[in-house]
Amino acid sequence: MKILLFGKSGQVGWELQRSLAPLGELVALHSGSSELCGNFEYPERIAHTVRAVAPDVIVNAAAHTAVDKAESEREKARAINAHGPAVLAQEARKLDAWLVHYSSDYVFDGNGTHRWRETDPTGPLNVYGLTKLEAEKAIVDSGCRHLIFRTSWVYAARGGNFAKTMLRLAQERDRLTVIEDQIGAPTGADLLADITAHAIRAAVRQRTMEAVSGIYHLVAAGETSWHGYARFVLDYARHAGVVLKVTPENVVAVPTSAFSLPAKRPRNSRMDTGKLRHTFDLSLPPWETGVARMLTEIFERST
Ligand code: NDP
Repeated sequence: MKILLFGKSGQVGWELQRSLAPLGELVALHSGSSELCGNFEYPERIAHTVRAVAPDVIVNAAAHTAVDKAESEREKARAINAHGPAVLAQEARKLDAWLVHYSSDYVFDGNGTHRWRETDPTGPLNVYGLTKLEAEKAIVDSGCRHLIFRTSWVYAARGGNFAKTMLRLAQERDRLTVIEDQIGAPTGADLLADITAHAIRAAVRQRTMEAVSGIYHLVAAGETSWHGYARFVLDYARHAGVVLKVTPENVVAVPTSAFSLPAKRPRNSRMDTGKLRHTFDLSLPPWETGVARMLTEIFERST
């Protein structure tokens, strides 16, 4: 199997380089790749890349993920998040290849307290969410074989993330305020990459694309708020012997309105993952398991 991966240096792309390698020949690109273009701001060159590689599976982990910046960079966000994936979908259709793509909880308006299902009406609140939704529609409408994984609150051990920021701030500051009225599930890039590899194996074995082609919600099990997430991180750190100025009990819970940010965020990012679990016969671990593992890696590295 030949796999073409875009966005190899991002959180998910980095983990995909590991998880996809055993499946076959992997060609992995980032936006600065020189021999083959991996920059979505050049759609014709992206189409050329796909034709030159002629993969069985295209995996797209590239995206404009700066949610607030996207509000003032609408066209750039649209080029990377919507037009790029649309080109991949057209090329995948011509090659009869699979296209694996990641979307977001931000396609929903965040109303209510229920777990969103794949069939629920969408209603993005910001430019990022809108462009992610545009990509979904372009992929589905193209008629290519596709797996679209909608995920949320992605973190990775490599690079910066929410947990590392909370750890730093709790050591530096006397007071920490964190949002309590946005609910979701922190989801590890490693989990996303592993599930992607399992799903690709299952998908390419199917005789009919109708069996599995579609949109899936893919997040870790359970739910929390950003406040609950911060408390978990600090509690874990304290048990690991990290000296904190702000204890988990002292993290101040505040509403979303306490912060003035350019992009609106959905409050309810709960996702129902039943379709993914049943279709691929997989189980999703609780969010705490992955976050604890990531924290252990951070603490071990710093000792
Ligand atoms: P990252 O921001 O970590 O990585 C995105 C990658 O996209 C970057 O490494 C960047 O690579 C690449 N990129 C940016 N601009 C371009 C461009 N013009 N052309 C090609 N590549 C470009 O994202 P994640 O790994 O966190 O996200 C993976 C997927 O998951 C995305 O589709 C995202 O929308 C989705 N998602 C992420 C969430 C999150 O919380 N992070 C939540 C929900 C969904 P380079 O260095 O090569 O420019």
